[in-house]
Amino acid sequence: MAQCTAKSKRSKEQCLKWAVRGRSTCSMHGGTSRGPATRCGKERSRLAVTKHGKYTEKAQLVRREIMAMVRECKNVLNLLA
Ligand SMILES: [Zn+2]
Repeated sequence: MAQCTAKSKRSKEQCLKWAVRGRSTCSMHGGTSRGPATRCGKERSRLAVTKHGKYTEKAQLVRREIMAMVRECKNVLNLLA
């Protein structure tokens, strides 16, 4: 059994309660929470967490492709120089 890993916002001290079995936090700090259960709840949670879309799968894929092109351009320029 482990101690709860939650820390106080004000005092910055760690919670002194025992964590829920198999979890890292006590029941007061979400150890018994199973997250959103319904499809509607999961969608609401997903939307609430998405703030700007910078880290969505599509945005990351586009960024990765752009960086691959930049790397390719740099390689070509290095070969010419
Ligand atoms: Zn706690």
